[in-house]
Amino acid sequence: MSMNEEEKPKLIATKIWKCKNADCKAWVREEFAEAGEQACPICKGPMHRSMRHLPAVQNKIKSQPRKKKNEFDF
Ligand SMILES: [Zn+2]
Repeated sequence: MSMNEEEKPKLIATKIWKCKNADCKAWVREEFAEAGEQACPICKGPMHRSMRHLPAVQNKIKSQPRKKKNEFDF
């Protein structure tokens, strides 16, 4: 099996909420979860905070990295 791995998204450690139920694999990104207590969207059970390596979210506006000063701009 050969997959195209050239365009691998960069994974970043992301805060998530994870279902406490070991049989339930549900989790949500913390940034998409509502503030306060979390209930599992699948089993409605309690969730706890965790971390997971996920691809960076594209629609999040980040402060632009500092640009190199133009060498011709005296
Ligand atoms: Zn669950």
